[in-house]
Amino acid sequence: MRSQDLEKSRQFIDLESYYRIEKLRVAKNYNRAKHRGFTDKNDFADWFIDQLEAYNCKCFYCETSIHEIKRLIDAGLLKQRNTRFGHRGKILEVDKNDNDYTKEQCVLSCYYCNNDKSYTSDKDDYKEHFGANRHIYFRGLIDKLNANNV
Ligand SMILES: [Zn+2]
Repeated sequence: MRSQDLEKSRQFIDLESYYRIEKLRVAKNYNRAKHRGFTDKNDFADWFIDQLEAYNCKCFYCETSIHEIKRLIDAGLLKQRNTRFGHRGKILEVDKNDNDYTKEQCVLSCYYCNNDKSYTSDKDDYKEHFGANRHIYFRGLIDKLNANNV
């Protein structure tokens, strides 16, 4: 298979497989001391998958699908951040919105919103004023990608 075709097939990975992979990844990241609003790793992972389903894999703030964000990163239109713990950008992150990780306070956020939002305390304020703008920006990049048939 040509590498371009391989890349395309990766983009269309079916949702069930995506949920299964994410569930394993999230369960591994569970930390009893940190994620106190969740009873155990399965509770944490199940909640994460429920959120993915409820929001169609979109960031709570900018309402952009993580699959589209991943496409933008792969196409070089968006930079991912390299940290000691790996790359950030291609997965949705858990934004806690308060001092504690509870189901009521947590939302799934793209890295770009999560990183930017650090200093804004109110999640609805951020979504309204900044998330909406990021959505427009990402939409423009995706349109560019689609126009170039990447
Ligand atoms: Zn976002």
